[in-house]
Amino acid sequence: MSDCIFCKIANGEIPSATLYEDEEFRVLLDLGPASKGHALILPKTHAANIYELPDETAGKAMILAKKMAAKMTDALKCDGFNILQNNGEAAGQTVFHFHMHLIPRYANDGVGISWEPGTLTEEVKKEILEKM
Ligand code: AMP
Ligand code: ZN
Repeated sequence: MSDCIFCKIANGEIPSATLYEDEEFRVLLDLGPASKGHALILPKTHAANIYELPDETAGKAMILAKKMAAKMTDALKCDGFNILQNNGEAAGQTVFHFHMHLIPRYANDGVGISWEPGTLTEEVKKEILEKM
């Protein structure tokens, strides 16, 4: 994808604050961090989202997320860790090259990753279970 900014960052055409790199991935600091140390895992091969992501890359990305969470928690002395990933505009995706957010959390940091819990009604439960 010649016009994809994350392809260019992942492949080193655009410089970034890189925490980790191997043949298939780059992990870099997010330019608009939610918290101190917020980083992104980018595969070097373009996939717009999780639907396009090859299974093998998905598996490796999760293993890398696990390793980065341990290393970053140790280095940054954070108190918790969010790993999240958006697919589609409706879900908050703004850059359409698959990426995973690594968000170190600190006690009372005020980072707003939350929602108002609704209620699972019998009707909706039945509908979903039938569809799936
Ligand atoms: P999402 O909303 O899940 O698509 O996340 C996109 C993320 O990419 C946001 O957290 C942005 O702050 C971050 N971002 C956008 N452009 C850059 C860039 N050039 N370098 C680093 N992070 C970026
Ligand atoms: Zn791309």
